[in-house]
Amino acid sequence: MEKIVSLCKRRGFIFQASEIYGGLNGVWDYGPLGTELKNNLKQYWWKVIVRDRDDVVGLDGAILTHPAALKASGHVDTFTDPMVDCRTCKARLRADQLAEKNGTKQCPNCGGRDLTEARPFNLMFQTQMGVSADPASIAYLRPETAQSIFVQFKNVLDVSRKKLPFGIAQIGKAFRNEINPRNFTFRSREFEQMELEYFCRPEQGMDLLAYWLKERIKFYEEIGINRKRLHILDVPDKDRAFYSKGTFDIEYEFPFGRQELEGVAYRTDYDLQQHIKASGKALDYFDEETKERFVPHVVEPSAGVDRTVLALICDAYDEDSAPDEKGKMETRIVMRFHPRMAPIKCAVFPLLKNKEVLVAKAREVQALLRSHMNVFYDEGGAIGRRYRRQDEIGTPFGVTIDFETLGEKGEELRDTVTLRDRDSMKQERIAIKDLVETISSKIR
Ligand code: ATP
Repeated sequence: MEKIVSLCKRRGFIFQASEIYGGLNGVWDYGPLGTELKNNLKQYWWKVIVRDRDDVVGLDGAILTHPAALKASGHVDTFTDPMVDCRTCKARLRADQLAEKNGTKQCPNCGGRDLTEARPFNLMFQTQMGVSADPASIAYLRPETAQSIFVQFKNVLDVSRKKLPFGIAQIGKAFRNEINPRNFTFRSREFEQMELEYFCRPEQGMDLLAYWLKERIKFYEEIGINRKRLHILDVPDKDRAFYSKGTFDIEYEFPFGRQELEGVAYRTDYDLQQHIKASGKALDYFDEETKERFVPHVVEPSAGVDRTVLALICDAYDEDSAPDEKGKMETRIVMRFHPRMAPIKCAVFPLLKNKEVLVAKAREVQALLRSHMNVFYDEGGAIGRRYRRQDEIGTPFGVTIDFETLGEKGEELRDTVTLRDRDSMKQERIAIKDLVETISSKIR
């Protein structure tokens, strides 16, 4: 894991937030490459979940949330983790993450056994709206994106005129004051979620739970996660929310252990019923065919953007060997991102930077590719070193403009370039006019 954390910082995927001031615990900033990777992930999720389907529409809800909404959803009263204090080193710890030695609970920091009783700690961030500091001005930063979907259910239904089953999807920030943020970005205090609430008739709930679990596994495979490192946990009754009739956790084998990436839960009609009770508004559905009026049930696939980005990074990290400039084998760090997810799709290199015609042609190729994909131009250093820099950030394709391109080694090679594949390191000669389609077909 240290190698991955260090690469993330060195190459600009992820930085500690407020780093120059000592850092803010559990909060992260994404650098230039991390931002591209995250955007690719979110865009692909949006494409598969919303754009490619007729039965799902989007929402972009506010982060600041009315306390009544989170009272109704149960978050104000029960969104807690059990917390204990270590009286020896004063650490605040999650009771379910204590170390244990010979059957006795210990502080994982100092080994101390003098621990307080567990007490509930609410994970929501509370803030103040407006100028007066009375209890009526309390607002919360949302702890999940889902609640605005339930609260806006009727509005979205009315404007979209969808028939059941249909879904409302949202990507956005969520905040949880985690007692013990850890494992890099895995458990953060500020993070992003990609959530779908898929509304249905009660009798469809269990089948749709199985359907969405399958769809979501397919998604992880499509973004290049190794299926062997994905696991499905059928959450047992005792660990499930009381209102859920079935929940699956999709887990990934991180270097620090097998951990949840996404929860797929059949939440019955619990959320809508809670908001109906608390708001007094009718959040129901009228079936034109059967003339029935009822409160829909919901299946929720809820994924974490940051956890998936971390899984993509862990899954892509690899080391193999490649020859250096003198032909001596050296270790090569290569991020084997699926081309769909790779932050940069193609790097463009003039063979030599002091040959104006090569540089001009390379800039031309960069301009050609740029409107179709994220390209990177690099003219500095030996070509082998330039390839290596791109391998380390997972750029799947490299295009080199050489003397053949200029027609100096025969007319038949004019306006052709070499296209290098990151994984096999093989190069093929290809006409410039075919570049866009060849690369585009692999990154869609
Ligand atoms: P955990 O048990 O790991 O705390 P959870 O079961 O509370 O997670 P959910 O409430 O089901 O998580 O949230 C849905 C998804 O949101 C999770 O599967 C995860 O990907 C993401 N998520 C939740 N909490 C965090 C966090 N603190 N940091 C990053 N991602 C998170």
